[in-house]
Amino acid sequence: MRQRTQVAIIGAGPAGLLLSQLLSKAGIDCTLLERKDRAYVEGRIRAGVLEQGTVDLLREAGVAARLDAEGLPHDGFRLALDGESFRVDMRHLTGGKSVTVYGQTEVTKDLIEAHVARGAALVFEAEEVALHEIDGKAPYVTYEKDGQAHRLDCDFIAGCDGYHGIARRSIPAEVLKSFERVYPFGWLGILADVPPCDHELIYANHERGFALASMRSTTRSRYYVQVAMEEKLEDWPDERLWDELALRLGEHAPHITRGPALEKSIAPLRSFVAEPMRWGQLFLAGDAAHIVPPTGAKGLNLAASDVGLLAEALTAHYRGDDAGIEHYSARALARVWKAERFSWWFTSLTHRFPEMDGFSRRMQMAELAYIRESEAARRVVAENYVGLPLHPSG
Ligand SMILES: Cc1cc2nc3c(=O)[nH]c(=O)nc-3n(C[C@H](O)[C@H](O)[C@H](O)COP(=O)(O)OP(=O)(O)OC[C@H]3O[C@@H](n4cnc5c(N)ncnc54)[C@H](O)[C@@H]3O)c2cc1C
Repeated sequence: MRQRTQVAIIGAGPAGLLLSQLLSKAGIDCTLLERKDRAYVEGRIRAGVLEQGTVDLLREAGVAARLDAEGLPHDGFRLALDGESFRVDMRHLTGGKSVTVYGQTEVTKDLIEAHVARGAALVFEAEEVALHEIDGKAPYVTYEKDGQAHRLDCDFIAGCDGYHGIARRSIPAEVLKSFERVYPFGWLGILADVPPCDHELIYANHERGFALASMRSTTRSRYYVQVAMEEKLEDWPDERLWDELALRLGEHAPHITRGPALEKSIAPLRSFVAEPMRWGQLFLAGDAAHIVPPTGAKGLNLAASDVGLLAEALTAHYRGDDAGIEHYSARALARVWKAERFSWWFTSLTHRFPEMDGFSRRMQMAELAYIRESEAARRVVAENYVGLPLHPSG
């Protein structure tokens, strides 16, 4: 089977789905190839905090009706040290900006529904996807579906296939530079149908380790505690996890409602960037090019901002202007590195590292005290948390 499209997109995570939606709106033909089935993709529990820019892009893509109805706008969040917290008022500090709590699962469902509604070319369970001739003018993608071999000729390939995908690995090793920091701990997360302990997120630095109180809706909570990477899920029955959260969340503990876990998992924390994000006719976007520790809630948002830039660049190309595709890698990386810095810094500020001595702990405490007391320091945190602009001025 041989077909043709303008842009072949690999991976139906948030990056691939949103890119396909934006390109289709601009009248550009694309085909989306996804390795897993629809139920698997829609059921993956991951991020939940959307920056203003991500919400704006989802609106532009015409998929924000449910987000606007059900998303929870958040004007601030809390930072806690050894159980006592203070508020970072994002709206006040950033001249009116905020974030929206809306699960990645819901973003994915909305995007897939929009694809199905417009009869888009979205192939689930595409196996053995391989990229060919990416450094020439006539790239193509091969894959298998239901035992049949397919070839998809295209102008461009968008590698939106996540950290473990094949797109990044299709770039020659001598061209690709990788930068990585692996953290010596993970996040044990619990999702439960109980009301959250606060209407805003609480990031807690505690002697026993980091904790995060988060939510997906007014009736569904998402909590995390920092654990050593060697910890086993079976050693964390729900009650032990709720007890640990209560200890680390201190003054907020009386407001925690306990309930059975809908999902529980341990996720590793990693910072990773691959450069460049373009090679020939291949563009990388989202986790395929970079990973952040989830502390700053940037993973999904970076995927969206890459795709925003890439959709602009490809749309301009089909109108005769190649500046966007020429500069895509540099522009995307400039924003990626700033989000990497914020996520790394926020992780360093709030987590307990195995090698930490009394001095490093006092440095964390002093920095948190400074943020609490200084509006200028809180503004820096807020500006990064709500998301830096896609096109910075100056
Ligand atoms: C456990 C976990 C928890 C997270 N929690 C948070 C959080 O709290 N906050 C936050 O901001 N971010 C979080 N993230 C990160 C966030 O979810 C990602 O940044 C986001 O999903 C990136 O979207 P993406 O589309 O780039 O990649 P992905 O969502 O990974 O999508 C890639 C897609 O490509 C498909 N694919 C892979 N290989 C192939 C192939 N060879 N052929 C075809 N398809 C392929 C995959 O099946 C997948 O559907 C979390 C991530 C994980 C793993």
